[in-house]
Amino acid sequence: MPKVYNWQLGREVEYLYEGVKPKRQFAVIMNLNKCIACQTCTMACKTTWSSGRGQEYMLWNNVETKPNGFYPLGWDIHLMEKLEEAKVEQVWENGVYKGKTIIEAAPTGERVLGWMPEDLDWANPNIGEDETAEEVDIGTVIDHFPNPIWMFYLPRICNHCSYPACLAACPRKAIYKRQEDGIVLIDPERCEGYQECVRACPYKKPMFNQVVGISQKCIGCFPKVEQGLMPQCVTTCIGRIRLMGFINEPDKIDPENPMDFLVHVKKVALPLYPQTGMQPNVYYIPPITVPIKYLRQMFGPGADNAVETYKRMREGKEPELQALLLLFGSTEFIPHKFKVEGDFVLAFDEKGNELVKVPLTEPIIMRPATDPKLGVTRQDIS
Ligand code: SF4
Ligand code: SF4
Repeated sequence: MPKVYNWQLGREVEYLYEGVKPKRQFAVIMNLNKCIACQTCTMACKTTWSSGRGQEYMLWNNVETKPNGFYPLGWDIHLMEKLEEAKVEQVWENGVYKGKTIIEAAPTGERVLGWMPEDLDWANPNIGEDETAEEVDIGTVIDHFPNPIWMFYLPRICNHCSYPACLAACPRKAIYKRQEDGIVLIDPERCEGYQECVRACPYKKPMFNQVVGISQKCIGCFPKVEQGLMPQCVTTCIGRIRLMGFINEPDKIDPENPMDFLVHVKKVALPLYPQTGMQPNVYYIPPITVPIKYLRQMFGPGADNAVETYKRMREGKEPELQALLLLFGSTEFIPHKFKVEGDFVLAFDEKGNELVKVPLTEPIIMRPATDPKLGVTRQDIS
């Protein structure tokens, strides 16, 4: 089987095909410290892409509460159980993953170590919402972190992986990775509905449309990306937790590229379950209120550094990072570069044109408490 280099695992991994690198790689960063589970992203995606026949229960973007929420039911618990059954030890040594990926651990005769959700597993996307890890008594005050009472919201889309299991598993070669941006798509003309992608994807992001008889999934809003615009779930995010861009491999890091800065330079944004070996391209800034053991399993050994860096930023010790996070939700255009200049952080498009200029400190203007012209008292003076 061909070998490809997976920088997230620090080693070569087995993959079904020779790894052909796209010209650039679509990536999204989500700051989990700020998601409020308003589901605006979910509805923005749903109304844009999946309101057709057979898509009633389909959410290409979903937001689940961890540790008790899942869509589909128990997707990551099943993943961990499968790895355990296959006797995969999820061990890291000095940033190198020593265990097997889901392709390396595939049973004889199969391409990927996968599992198939039941139809009803997709029926309760909000299961476990707002449930904490431990019960909370009325009147409980949480005054320190980490705390046994915790939860956080995890928004999920297709990771547009560098070595996708869905693509590897498809017997029809109906799934392809676009050369121009690395977005992974299912060709509806070639798909015959065998659902091997649904079984193979460790993140359970392809979904079967029973009416049309084919698999469907997040398309990275490619028609928008082609026009230099970020996807719907990114631009509509109420919490301003998301930013989309193009990420480079570690040997081509551009510190002025927002994705590279957050993932490679500051290492504050991490891939979800990197041990699957897919090299997923949605990166998460982990929540600092969650026990580190849970974060290590979910985001790999970089979790400690990411949490510490974020905490430092909150103390004002990471000004560049703090400035960059202000760009989240500040423009609908894809930022290719950023820079801090005086009291502002600026974003630039591919040609170097300025997209947006955001003040580092939000200006506060106080108005007099009374309006002399109208002779009334103002309710809102700031
Ligand atoms: S998240 Fe799943 S569906 Fe998306 S590219 Fe990766 S393996 Fe394929
Ligand atoms: S729109 Fe943003 S804040 Fe709201 S649920 Fe989605 S990711 Fe979270």
